[in-house]
Amino acid sequence: MEENVPAGRCVVAVDGPSGSGKSTVSRRLAVSLGARYLDTGAMYRALTWAVLRSGVELTDAESVAKVAGEADLRIGTDPQGYAVTVDGTDVSSDIRGAEVTGAVSAVAAVGAIRELLVDRQRRLIAEAGRIVVEGRDIGSVVAPDADLKVYLTASEAARAQRRSAEDAADVAATAADLARRDRLDSTRTVNPLQQAADAVVLDTTELGIDQVVARLREMLTERGVA
Ligand code: C5P
Repeated sequence: MEENVPAGRCVVAVDGPSGSGKSTVSRRLAVSLGARYLDTGAMYRALTWAVLRSGVELTDAESVAKVAGEADLRIGTDPQGYAVTVDGTDVSSDIRGAEVTGAVSAVAAVGAIRELLVDRQRRLIAEAGRIVVEGRDIGSVVAPDADLKVYLTASEAARAQRRSAEDAADVAATAADLARRDRLDSTRTVNPLQQAADAVVLDTTELGIDQVVARLREMLTERGVA
């Protein structure tokens, strides 16, 4: 056995667009596996919060990257509850607000920011050993050697319905925002949202959370990893 690989190593990569069920499924799966959980979207959101606070123009990629590079970002990996802080300020709830959501895809398209965060994410994964990681580029870029790669999808209507229920927002406005973010996230040049060639695709439109988690547990058992 390789040295430094913790016993019971198990890395699950969960990618997909907003509203596909990624967060809920990933957290539940992590709890059921006794694993850590990493929300990479929260990391992009936290750096976006730092950029907005600094007042630099979102179109000024160089300044955006500089602010992000200087921010002290910390994120917990407990699937039952984790805090996200920037320079000692708890931003866990602010990063879910409309201002950050509206700007995050632009910040996440900056190559230097992706390099910085991909590197951080790889270190957090290596430290944890057993971890469920959710995002847009986990199976394709961050953890191409994951034990299981899942790509969750759902119909646009189901995704908008779920997100608007979570945010207590109007369904039509949520659908428009999801479509805008999907377009930006899928068409950016650096690490766009994409399905890894060896990812298992699961359409969650008609499935409950428990069914999706059970299906993923089966897949891990079939692979002999958990
Ligand atoms: O998952 P969540 O909706 O919180 O992600 C917020 C945004 O962060 C996404 O719309 C995307 O622009 C960016 N993101 C990314 N790569 C990841 C995770 C999130 O570009 N691995």
